[in-house]
Amino acid sequence: VLQRVEYRESDLIIMLMTESLGRVTALARGAKRSSKRFGGALEPIHTLRVRLDERIGAELFTLREASIATPRRRITADLDRIQVAGRALAWLRKAAPHASSEPELWRAITELFDCLDSDESGRAPKLFLAEFGLRLLLALGFALDFERCVRCGKMAAPGQSAYIDPARGGIVCRACGGARLRLDPAARDRMRRAAEGQLDALVHGDAEPALDLVELSLRAHVGIT
Ligand SMILES: [Zn+2]
Repeated sequence: VLQRVEYRESDLIIMLMTESLGRVTALARGAKRSSKRFGGALEPIHTLRVRLDERIGAELFTLREASIATPRRRITADLDRIQVAGRALAWLRKAAPHASSEPELWRAITELFDCLDSDESGRAPKLFLAEFGLRLLLALGFALDFERCVRCGKMAAPGQSAYIDPARGGIVCRACGGARLRLDPAARDRMRRAAEGQLDALVHGDAEPALDLVELSLRAHVGIT
C-alpha cells in the first residue's frame, strides 16, 4: 500500500504497488467504515495478496479481497525503520509509472522491506534506503553515471575525486564545468555497485550523500521535492 485516501462516507481509495500491474489505484468499498471488510490488511509495509477487478475504460480498479501475505512486524515496531520505509514508499508513489509492470521495482522494494524486517547487524536503516534509492534510479531509467562525464564522455580519473550532478545524470568533469557535489573514488565505486543491486555495497557515511543524489535525481526527473 503506497497511499490511502478517504473517499465518500465509507470507502477508501488505495494506491498499490503490485507485482504484475505496477502502480495502480483501487476503490476499497466499505474499507473506511469497517476494518473487518478487508481484515485490517490495508496497511503499508506488509506484502498483501489482493484480488482486483478491472472495469474496461476505468482507471480505478475495484479491490475485492486483501489479506496480509508477508507481515513485517519488526519494521512497524521501530520508528527508524518505519521512517525509512515511508520514504521509499513516497518515492514509488511519485516515480513508479502508472499501471506498468515493473519487476525490478517490485524486487527492489520487497528486498528493501525484507532487509529492514530481518536485519540484526545493527547497520543503519538509512544505508538500506540509500541502496534502494540508487537501484530505483536504475530501474526507472535515471541511473547515475559514476564513471564517465555525462557531457563529454571522458572517464573519471581512477583514484581521484569527481564532481557529480544528479540533475544532469552523473559525473561532470572539470573541463565541462564540474558540479557542486564531489565524490571520492571509493565512494563512487561503492555507489555504482549499490546501483547495480549489490545489497551491502555502501558503508557508514555513504547514506547521506547517496540519499542526496537520489532525491536530487528524482526531483530533476519527476518533480519530487
Ligand atoms: Zn566532460
